[in-house]
Amino acid sequence: MRVERILAPNPGPFTGSGTNTYLIISDGEALIIDPGPLERAHEEAILTSLVDLRPKGILVTHTHEDHAPLANPLAADLDLPAYGYAPGPNFKPDLLLADEDWVWFGREQVQALHTPGHSVDHLCFLARDSLFTGDHIMGGSSVVVEDMSAYLASLRRLQQLHPARLYPGHGLVMHDPAGIVAGYIEHRLQREQQVLSAIKTGASTVMDIVQTVYEDIDSDLHPLAAMSVRAHLTKLADDGVVQHMENDVVSLVGELP
Ligand SMILES: [Zn+2]
Repeated sequence: MRVERILAPNPGPFTGSGTNTYLIISDGEALIIDPGPLERAHEEAILTSLVDLRPKGILVTHTHEDHAPLANPLAADLDLPAYGYAPGPNFKPDLLLADEDWVWFGREQVQALHTPGHSVDHLCFLARDSLFTGDHIMGGSSVVVEDMSAYLASLRRLQQLHPARLYPGHGLVMHDPAGIVAGYIEHRLQREQQVLSAIKTGASTVMDIVQTVYEDIDSDLHPLAAMSVRAHLTKLADDGVVQHMENDVVSLVGELP
């Protein structure tokens, strides 16, 4: 199996140097992972990389706008199926992948793993001991989390797979998956402790917590930090520790188990 990375021309604060489109290749057959944004130059780069290969299908990790919009048009151009977990605003899969489904290419197969957290529709893809992580794990920038309980459960699940390397949706390949995933879990649990101690010392709204926990970040990023705090609060509410009202008022109602 061989992997090629094609960097999309969409660098930015949430995409790092841009979205990684991957080709995974076996025996002259290729699967395309995350075609990326609707950019003509990027589509040309993908088509150029496919010269001499037989493309078999398109795999989409999740439906965010930096990963999925090119999938349907490229699938139509190449007369291939596009696979994904569920339809979303930027993408309608031709074929749905459930957790642990397999897709063949050449003499290899890749397994879809449902890894909700960054988004509810997120898949990682495991081919031999290489894990394609989409936005579940990113190189160089921190992941925006929608559902913290699900995110932590998905990280713990990846730990059980013992991959040898991670190919993220943004940034470079990572060769210490065990250390990286353990670090991600530890970072989130530390944040959770910071959120809890902010509430214990008087923070009573989401923005209070943001200003206490994220005092060192640029205020432009506060709305994003608020999203992350809300994801922590949803988990802490599920754990019976806090009450989080619709108007973003927060109170302590218990202790962590
Ligand atoms: Zn995303």
